[in-house]
Amino acid sequence: MTATLQASIAAARQAVLDRIAAAATASGRAPGDVTLVAVSKQQPEDRIAAMLATGQTIFGENRVQEAQDRWGARRNSLELRLIGPLQSNKAREAVALFDVIETLDRPKLAAVLADEIQRAGGGPRLFVQVNTGEEPQKAGVIPTEADAFIAACRGEFGLQIEGLMCIPPEAEAAGPHFALLAAIARRNGLERLSMGMSADFETAVRFGATSVRVGSALFGTRG
Ligand SMILES: *Cc1c(COP(=O)(O)O)cnc(C)c1O
Repeated sequence: MTATLQASIAAARQAVLDRIAAAATASGRAPGDVTLVAVSKQQPEDRIAAMLATGQTIFGENRVQEAQDRWGARRNSLELRLIGPLQSNKAREAVALFDVIETLDRPKLAAVLADEIQRAGGGPRLFVQVNTGEEPQKAGVIPTEADAFIAACRGEFGLQIEGLMCIPPEAEAAGPHFALLAAIARRNGLERLSMGMSADFETAVRFGATSVRVGSALFGTRG
């Protein structure tokens, strides 16, 4: 890792933190109420090392295997979040590796996660992903089914749900999607909202995000 790379990653992180703080303050929230998740998927090792050197400890990955390869050997004192779709046959590995799984979105996965968490004697904090734009290619429970799914997770599957996550459609204004996610969370008694990426994290903070998932604005474009 060169000194130049170290300096530019540190500056990018500080700039994102400053923008989060400004958006929080402008909407009457405390900057400390918003967690920055650094999305490290597909980033080269020198940029990861530079980000670790800034003191950043919370990272997001969208693939179990890639996260295992990147983080398995240096898991200590980090918080790892799975932000990509999870296949049931990877649930055991995901429960072992991640501190947070943000993409719970179907009964089959809820059942498998419940089994694996019981087997392991504990497991990650869980977010339900909501497909706010009802896009067929995107993961997530659709908004009209969210209340029933959250209830089933809590009841039938005995899972504790910490919050909700969404990825708005690329071609639409993100604000209404963030507002919808916040409304679903509110009526289900959920306090955590994972929303906002490089292009829209300030909007997400204004709509109540408690964590933002930022990749390219921190690390540069992915290889
Ligand atoms: C890749 C990814 C991000 C980060 O995207 P950027 O636009 O690079 O900030 C955030 N959330 C999810 C679910 C992702 O897959």
